[in-house]
Amino acid sequence: VKKIAVLTSGGDSQGMNAAVRAVVRSGLYHGLEVYAVQRGYAGLINDDIRQMDLRSVGDIIQRGGTILQTARCKEFITPEGQQMGADNLMKRGIDGLVVIGGDGSYQGANKLSKLGIKTMGLPGTIDNDIPFTDYTIGFDTAVSIVVDAINKLRDTMSSHERSSIVEVMGRYCGDIALYAGLASGAETILVPEVPFDLDEISDRMETNFKLGKRHSIIIVAEGVCKGEDIANEISRRKDSIEPRVTVLGHIQRGGAPTHNDRILASSLGDFAVRMLIEGESGKGCGIIKGELTITDIEKVVNTKKQFNMELYELAKRLSQ
Ligand code: ATP
Repeated sequence: VKKIAVLTSGGDSQGMNAAVRAVVRSGLYHGLEVYAVQRGYAGLINDDIRQMDLRSVGDIIQRGGTILQTARCKEFITPEGQQMGADNLMKRGIDGLVVIGGDGSYQGANKLSKLGIKTMGLPGTIDNDIPFTDYTIGFDTAVSIVVDAINKLRDTMSSHERSSIVEVMGRYCGDIALYAGLASGAETILVPEVPFDLDEISDRMETNFKLGKRHSIIIVAEGVCKGEDIANEISRRKDSIEPRVTVLGHIQRGGAPTHNDRILASSLGDFAVRMLIEGESGKGCGIIKGELTITDIEKVVNTKKQFNMELYELAKRLSQ
């Protein structure tokens, strides 16, 4: 490849900017021309493409969101939309593209690779729901935000002897709930991957309060149900327990990325460029046990991320 482009797509996540910076700077370092596409696949179709230089990505490594903006673009799901996107790249001689996004964005990248554009996917989503990588870009920051929020809730909860339910993001993947739950000492972690029994949970809460526990935290991934529903079910079973619900929502997607996300984004962005130079295409980049890896996008999008049961059991053992 001689000319490459980068875009961000789907939901934004912290560290996307650090990844864009890495793609641009690594591309320039390796002697390539580098372009940026604004607003994901929508910008590809609308030909919103500009050339980048070293300075275009200055002062962004620490910023949340994405300077390239992102979009969900229905038109790109059609073969005509994809062809338009590919044509807009080809007329500039751009033959490589790095797509930073989630599952859907990966599928778009795969379609483009079949139209002759060499593509690499970078896992940019807070949910950590992409397989063949231990972590996605943004996940570490999202977990830190949840842990920080729970720290604050704990202060007021122990003063008032209360129980709290914290609803976090994660439609299909309970990793934010799992990692934040373990890191903040939540008593109960509810995730889509593991069935649970509300009778048992309510009984345990009652017993623990009688035995002198001053606060209890239930963390629930949005893919399970609303936090409010869990609160109602528990107070229906136990008159004495009235859990307060906190929904963290989009706060989890904002703010400066942690150093872990910046380093992950920088490593993966540079790696994607090097893989394009080596002629790879239609691959998703990841990091597994510290090793940078690539996997066929086809395989990535058709595999469900393995839930870490060991970590889940550990959280359970320590939350007595
Ligand atoms: P998140 O995990 O944050 O939802 P995502 O990348 O999965 O991120 P989507 O909205 O699913 O978000 O996908 C982003 C964009 O990718 C879509 O708006 C669409 O333009 C494109 N896309 C999704 N699925 C396909 C597909 N099957 N073929 C081509 N393009 C697709």
